[in-house]
Amino acid sequence: MYMLLWGLGASALVAGVGYRKGSLSESGFVGALLVGTLVMGFGGPLWFCMLLTFFISGSALSHYKRERKGEVEANFAKTGRRDFGQALANGGLGSLLAVLSRTLLSPGAAFAMFLGVMATVSADTWATEIGVLSKQKPRSVLTWQEVPPGTSGGVSLLGTGAAALGALLVGLVAQIGLMFSGAPGLPGDKILLAALVGGLAGCFTDSLLGASCQLIFRCSTCGAETEKREHCGRETEYLRGCRWLNNDMVNLLASGVGGLVAFIYLA
Ligand SMILES: [Zn+2]
Repeated sequence: MYMLLWGLGASALVAGVGYRKGSLSESGFVGALLVGTLVMGFGGPLWFCMLLTFFISGSALSHYKRERKGEVEANFAKTGRRDFGQALANGGLGSLLAVLSRTLLSPGAAFAMFLGVMATVSADTWATEIGVLSKQKPRSVLTWQEVPPGTSGGVSLLGTGAAALGALLVGLVAQIGLMFSGAPGLPGDKILLAALVGGLAGCFTDSLLGASCQLIFRCSTCGAETEKREHCGRETEYLRGCRWLNNDMVNLLASGVGGLVAFIYLA
């Protein structure tokens, strides 16, 4: 109970700054508050630090070279201000695992999965925010054809390197935290690699789903393919993909795969 209050306070502070800096919309603020409170309240300080690592590094990177990302942002759902759906897509599974670590799952298993989930969302954000700046055109992970920067399922060397760094950063925080709090039955020397392997596997899943069955719309005004429901100030039309598999759902599924891979790696 005490921890939940701490979580609420700390989350309000961080999400408040995120809102004022334009990283979160109003609904994104509410989503971040919910996720942060549950992760701190049920997972504890180390879990919260890992969440913060993702949130702060991702927000900072989304501000980096913002003007060059403007054009990409108009077509693709990922960069820019996060709303409620995005907050849950990135933090929903993490908060669920925090709750489960107190009930159904052993603390070690829950932490291993949380590590992979956070590594994935961090890797994915790093890959998106840095990858769009790549001078080299990204290629579709499925067809290896060149695609416009920011396209879901497009991969570049720069983006992949950024993904690895994003995953490793979460792993590093986990590794350092576990040295102080004691590993909950996990092999301490494998944490960093588990984050890397889980994060990259999750990120790859994200690209694969993004390139194959993600929901894509078309703007009836300018003809652009987009992940957004609105373009040029008007509602877009369905073009292809599973109707329920929007960008947020892809993120959620990918983070689940990342969590499972890290769990299996550490088991
Ligand atoms: Zn348009």
